[in-house]
Amino acid sequence: MTRIAIVGVAGRMGRTLVNAVQEDAGATLAGGIVEPGSSLAGADIGELAGLGKLGVAAVDSLDAIADDFDVLIDFTAPQVTLANLAFCAAHGKRMVIGTTGLSGDELAELDGYHGQLPFVFAPNMSVGVNLTLKLLETAARALGDEGYDIEVIEAHHRHKVDSPSGTALKMGEVVAAALDRTLKEHGVFERVGQCGPRDPKEIGFATVRAGDIVGEHTVMFATEGERIEITHKASSRMTFAKGAVRAARWVADQSNGRYGMQDVLGLG
Ligand code: NAD
Repeated sequence: MTRIAIVGVAGRMGRTLVNAVQEDAGATLAGGIVEPGSSLAGADIGELAGLGKLGVAAVDSLDAIADDFDVLIDFTAPQVTLANLAFCAAHGKRMVIGTTGLSGDELAELDGYHGQLPFVFAPNMSVGVNLTLKLLETAARALGDEGYDIEVIEAHHRHKVDSPSGTALKMGEVVAAALDRTLKEHGVFERVGQCGPRDPKEIGFATVRAGDIVGEHTVMFATEGERIEITHKASSRMTFAKGAVRAARWVADQSNGRYGMQDVLGLG
């Protein structure tokens, strides 16, 4: 049985993760962490998640539950996640990280932990999205250098703080890698005013932020006469949460290293 603690347990994903752990026969809820000084410290995490009392009180520091858990699931913010990686490396824990919006420097810092603990880092934990990444690789290889323009379009709820989404960037990276391109050179993240005709090799990104959209991604391959669109739509955060719990069970048996959902799902 994998003992799981959830950091950011009062957040949108945190509350959903409590539900997903409770539903998983191979995992047990070992703790929940809220922000230091939060008035929610001491609250029952089952009640926070709308499940009724589970007998596990939220704490506001990892130290308080250091002996209680094996794997930490973290869907918070970049600097919080990096601090938690240091804690888990020092205490022999494993991690599943869903936090997005890390800068280049923050990603390099995260990567530096690959020899210190086993951890899964993925901008999207849904099984469907990870299969979609495989489909995109195939489509890009067949179409990308044959006159098809590639555009990535994503939509999320009004509270999302980073843009484009980590998933949209991952989709762009997969397509770029399949075509020997890079997002640094070929990614186009803004088109305003007289920006001229499209470069055939560019990979464009467009972002929608509105209402309560959980997460929608489309990659379009368009040429004269036809257009192929590969779309994934998440209708509930439970899809990400279930993937994260599956990753936690999986990473419990791995040796030190940085892994992705493709590894967890055996699609690597
Ligand atoms: P949210 O704002 O609802 O939740 C984040 C929570 O983290 C908040 O409750 C906040 O209080 C808490 N927090 C902040 N600092 C903390 C600290 N030091 N200790 C403990 N808790 C702390 O946001 P959300 O919608 O749940 O998303 C969180 C992150 O997960 C974002 O980066 C989002 O993009 C990402 N996300 C990833 C996936 C995926 O599949 N990988 C899916 C959905 C969201």
